[in-house]
Amino acid sequence: MTPEQRAAEFDAADPLAAYRERFTLPEGVIYLDGNSLGALPKATPAAVRCVVEHEWGEGLIRSWNSAGWFEAAGRIGGKIAPLIGAAPHEVIACDSTSVNLFKLIAAALQMRPGRKVILSEPGNFPTDLYMIAGLEQQGLAERRLAERDRLTDALDGDVALLLLTHVHYKTGAMHDMVALTRAAHEAGALVLWDLSHSTGALPVGLNAAQADFAVGCGYKYLCGGPGAPAFAFVAERHHASLKQPLTGWFGHAAPFAFSDDYASAPGIEQLLCGTSPVLGLAALEVGVELIAEIGVERLFQKSQALSEFFLASLKDHGVVLECVSPADSGARGSQLSFRHPQAYAICQALIARGVIGDFRDPDVLRLGFAPAYLSFADIAAAARHLAEVLANEEWQSDEFRQRAAVT
Ligand SMILES: *Cc1c(COP(=O)(O)O)cnc(C)c1O
Repeated sequence: MTPEQRAAEFDAADPLAAYRERFTLPEGVIYLDGNSLGALPKATPAAVRCVVEHEWGEGLIRSWNSAGWFEAAGRIGGKIAPLIGAAPHEVIACDSTSVNLFKLIAAALQMRPGRKVILSEPGNFPTDLYMIAGLEQQGLAERRLAERDRLTDALDGDVALLLLTHVHYKTGAMHDMVALTRAAHEAGALVLWDLSHSTGALPVGLNAAQADFAVGCGYKYLCGGPGAPAFAFVAERHHASLKQPLTGWFGHAAPFAFSDDYASAPGIEQLLCGTSPVLGLAALEVGVELIAEIGVERLFQKSQALSEFFLASLKDHGVVLECVSPADSGARGSQLSFRHPQAYAICQALIARGVIGDFRDPDVLRLGFAPAYLSFADIAAAARHLAEVLANEEWQSDEFRQRAAVT
């Protein structure tokens, strides 16, 4: 059987196949970059139009109360919560992942007086490392990096916080959240998980692992749209003692009392800073509801099947590529990454054929298998395109070697 024939059988048996119709996907495109910018749910334009034309256009300022704008950040956080193993009142949708990292790293430092070290790994997502740098500039933090197999050895009495990305953005490798959280706690440190590449792609158990803090992205697997609000999680046991540094009025216990003095909201709302981005939240809510409806367990099962099928199809085509993602599909997120010296040009050649993946410096071709809207037929076609690009050495063409600003 050819990969295409097997794909037809898999698609016919796929319980999630019908969800593809709930997304807008352009003709002629095989979208393997849902891990960078999720596809558009078909319900989003109407939802956003309603907020713009009706709630804003007609309701004006009244909509803060009558259309639920004021509660939106907490309401959507509550809908994200079950996807990440948290309670609804422990999650809030706000700001960017970067800003949420800053708030929670600073809060962790404040909760561990006498300790300044933030432990992370080299090659973590840049913004995670850069947000530590900002606190170093303030004299508040000290960065320590240890390779993944050395992290527990590096957890000593100086470490205030272990900051890790659960699923690595480049390789897709997944950390053992339970074991690392326990190790950090045994060393007296707190833990902050970046769930940007996990949320909406696979089940996460923050409370089962007794995690302290988490952040994550709204525009990847949650399909909230470009620059969608991110989210933040704080375990309930920390709500009373938390002190985050961005003490804006939306995080105040009574923003509309207009007091001169700051008093933080008692619950997760204390993570808010300024006025919630209502339009962005409206789009995010549609994506979150759709992903929650499909369910993260089923999504992860399908994403494992998709990536296994991709690897098997490459093999059928005789393609030999160095895969830098874990071989065990249970130990990686919804992506496969391949190392090749011409990864950038290969990626461009694939895009010219309508297969959109991405490139990560210096030599990684990253293909995401967003399970909510990809079919096995897409995967078979993508594998065939990649095999042909390599066999024809299409990447040799000059047009594919010019680097764009966003890769
Ligand atoms: C995408 C991503 C981010 C994004 O941060 P922004 O502030 O939204 O730009 C952060 N961390 C990780 C691990 C990511 O993959």
